[in-house]
Amino acid sequence: LFKPIEKISAILELYPRGMAGFKRFTDMMDTEVDVVDRDDAKEAPVLDGSISFNDVTFGYEENRPVLSNVNLTIPAGKTIAFVGPSGAGKTTISSLIPRFYDIDSGSITINGMNIQEMTKKSLRSQIGIVQQDVFLFSGTLRENIRYGNLNASDEEIEHAARLANLEALIESLPQGYDTQIGQRGLKLSGGQKQRIAIARTFLKNPPILILDEATSALDTETEAMIQQSLQELAVNRTTLVIAHRLATIRHADRIVVVTKDGIVEQGTYDELIAKNGAFASLNSIQINQ
Ligand code: ADP
Ligand code: MG
Repeated sequence: LFKPIEKISAILELYPRGMAGFKRFTDMMDTEVDVVDRDDAKEAPVLDGSISFNDVTFGYEENRPVLSNVNLTIPAGKTIAFVGPSGAGKTTISSLIPRFYDIDSGSITINGMNIQEMTKKSLRSQIGIVQQDVFLFSGTLRENIRYGNLNASDEEIEHAARLANLEALIESLPQGYDTQIGQRGLKLSGGQKQRIAIARTFLKNPPILILDEATSALDTETEAMIQQSLQELAVNRTTLVIAHRLATIRHADRIVVVTKDGIVEQGTYDELIAKNGAFASLNSIQINQ
């Protein structure tokens, strides 16, 4: 979902069998509000991933802001978790970083550079996103993993698959990496799809990573296994985690609590528990569920 549309024609040439899947994909992209590059947009430099929101106001509809004057700094290489009630604006905050929408006022900078001055393509090429819905197309497992980086060699694909704990699955299949998946091929479980998304992101190797409730549709056992791959994926990247289950973000460098009133608390897990405020009450609700 988050690949620049410019790449689609190149992918179609590579994967003629993937046509049906890509048709659906482009249909989906068409419904996205279009963010246009400025005439003087520049290629983003290699980003270290330090992100700053400065007085950011944004709404999907005019005069109905979802975020009002949000200020937030995310240091390079750290893991920041966003928690809070459904509809508070967590996904919205994360989707402004790859510029799926442009903001109404304020600025968002990465490496100190305003993201509106960067081309979307060069910005998005440095951001990896793993979310609940994984986009797979009809093609082989290998092709579906290669989607993370079309220039990847077979060796790199196999390395990424190992990092994403896909090896046992692939070894169990008679055709291994050449197994067809998708509509007429092998049906994959939610956890297996997630691992393909993780393998793609290892291949892409972006400095910035967004994990939006990536494991919330999985059962607890599968989730624990995938958490481990996600934690490895987050090493040395600026990582934004949006988590439903609070136990999974215990070790984040910082937790940001978002409610409809905006960012109401920030701190480490222990700090926020000690504070006995919004986070502590969210936490006690979950523990008692
Ligand atoms: P969260 O991720 O914290 O559950 P979201 O960022 O998805 O919250 O949503 C914040 C608010 O923005 C909600 O009121 C939601 O209904 C609204 N919203 C989210 N996405 C869209 C959209 N594409 N168009 C219009 N409103 C949206
Ligand atoms: Mg959300």
